[in-house]
Amino acid sequence: MADDADVIVVGGGLAGLVAATEITDAGKRVIVVDQEGEQSLGGQAFWSLGGLFLVDSPEQRRLGIKDSFELALQDWMGSAGFDRDEDLWPRRWAEAYVAFAAGEKRGWLRAMGHRIFPVVGWAERGGYDAMSHGNSVPRFHLTWGTGPGIVEPFERRAREAQASGLLSFKFRHRVDALTMTGGAVDGVAGATLAPDDAVRGNSSSRQVTGDFTLRAQAVIVASGGIGGNHDLVRQNWPKRLGEAPVNMISGVPEHVDGRMIGITEAAGARLINRDRMWHYVEGIRNWSPIWPRHGIRILPGPSSMWFDALGRRLPSPLFPGSDTLGQLQYIMSTGYDYSWFVLTQSIIKKEFALSGSEQNPDLTGKSWLMTARRATNKGAPAPVEAFKSKGADFIVRDNLADLVTAMNALAGHDLLRHEHVKTQIEARDREIQNPYVKDTQVMNIHNARKYIGDRLIRTAKPHRILDPAHGPLIAVKLNILTRKTLGGFETDLDSRVFGLNGQIIPGLYAAGEAAGFGGGGMHGYRSLEGTFLGGCLFSGRNAGRAAAKAVG
Ligand SMILES: Cc1cc2nc3c(=O)[nH]c(=O)nc-3n(C[C@H](O)[C@H](O)[C@H](O)COP(=O)(O)OP(=O)(O)OC[C@H]3O[C@@H](n4cnc5c(N)ncnc54)[C@H](O)[C@@H]3O)c2cc1C
Repeated sequence: MADDADVIVVGGGLAGLVAATEITDAGKRVIVVDQEGEQSLGGQAFWSLGGLFLVDSPEQRRLGIKDSFELALQDWMGSAGFDRDEDLWPRRWAEAYVAFAAGEKRGWLRAMGHRIFPVVGWAERGGYDAMSHGNSVPRFHLTWGTGPGIVEPFERRAREAQASGLLSFKFRHRVDALTMTGGAVDGVAGATLAPDDAVRGNSSSRQVTGDFTLRAQAVIVASGGIGGNHDLVRQNWPKRLGEAPVNMISGVPEHVDGRMIGITEAAGARLINRDRMWHYVEGIRNWSPIWPRHGIRILPGPSSMWFDALGRRLPSPLFPGSDTLGQLQYIMSTGYDYSWFVLTQSIIKKEFALSGSEQNPDLTGKSWLMTARRATNKGAPAPVEAFKSKGADFIVRDNLADLVTAMNALAGHDLLRHEHVKTQIEARDREIQNPYVKDTQVMNIHNARKYIGDRLIRTAKPHRILDPAHGPLIAVKLNILTRKTLGGFETDLDSRVFGLNGQIIPGLYAAGEAAGFGGGGMHGYRSLEGTFLGGCLFSGRNAGRAAAKAVG
């Protein structure tokens, strides 16, 4: 039987698009198969903020940030905490990826027309010692145009290859099995799904209209992670974090269903580190949802006070933006799956950013005029104000007693005591007058404001939370929001997948989230942020180049 293409790529997300365009650049024929319709091309990356981890970039240098491969690798290894035998390939991928981020990554993208917003963000700041978790310096580079801006160059290249006959898309084709001959993967089989004009991100129907098989010399699995499938998240929930949360909201569309992970495993692929996941603890229910249980992550600046469900301040260094996994672990240890930010109007307007392309119309629409308003500090961006007034998790009051009463009403318990919360806020407020202080969160605020990027758009001038001049007071109920899968298929640096016997499965490759962004988990336990899109770029590129070479 003749092959339908040289290579089949399962998944038209960022990793799949990158892999496919590398294959067509090498003059080979590729089919991209996706269960969703054409309107959803680009997968999760379209919805993303487009944040990219880059090391020693011109943007950093312009802001006076001194970064290096060595510093970034130190941070990566401190965050990853690799501690398993199966971390052999993840560790190799981590080293190669940090080198990519410090080397070719920016120039490669730039040559395709990709551009970066000039103020570099500082995510996952840690707060432990130099060898532990966190970014020592700001490294989160926002794509000018956010998620659509990172998808655009690859979609353009794919459309060009489609026009030249090297690439074809098979939308509404759901892969249900990998086909194999003599131990080698040589195609896919599955169901065709009824056409559906659901808008991008909405759930589409799973009505089957027929079946299909496609043959090729190699198959690249780029089908994303499990974050949209809460059953799988619960099933894989790590014991070290206690019981899985009862309530979770979704930071990804429903197509991030993890089905293809099981299908690839059934073909003999070795899935490792499945208990490593990256979920956020600052999730808010979207008042205008696009997908089921749609939640948005707040990207907080350093000043909000953070309380657990019992009204206790989170311990140092678990301050906003410091250590996502540490915060998740602490919150789960309280016996409740939510926590609270308490802040002021002055903080929200300068420090709240929402993750997602649709929540940042200024950056997504590439409007310098709108973006400049972030620095003028006249008010919170419109999407943040919309959440403040319409979001189910936001409470705005003029005084603390009323705020705490409303927090208890929203939680449906009487766990918070006004006096208890007030004592802690007043204590923190007494620390705010001197630039040298005991309170480590206040130290962090002073530290952040030494970085011009934070001072400009991310860190409010230190002030008392209970100062009415900075009011009204705001409380935000924070939910656990599912997002990323850190484990995945074990792959070598060519993205070739290992089988259970430790041997490469001929013809099978994996990239993006399905491969734990490379190797089966290059992040280890924790991410430095901006490393997921970058992981799709790097692993998709390696997979595409290697598969194109292998098919001769
Ligand atoms: C709101 C949001 C903000 C984010 N912000 C950032 C950020 O700033 N920086 C960052 O680095 N990362 C960010 N991320 C994460 C990043 O976008 C994702 O991890 C990444 O895009 C995953 O890409 P992927 O190609 O591996 O998978 P996906 O984008 O999930 O694509 C997989 C594709 O495979 C298809 N598929 C799955 N199973 C099958 C099957 N059986 N048959 C056929 N097709 C199938 C799916 O329909 C989908 O189109 C964000 C994500 C979201 C949702």
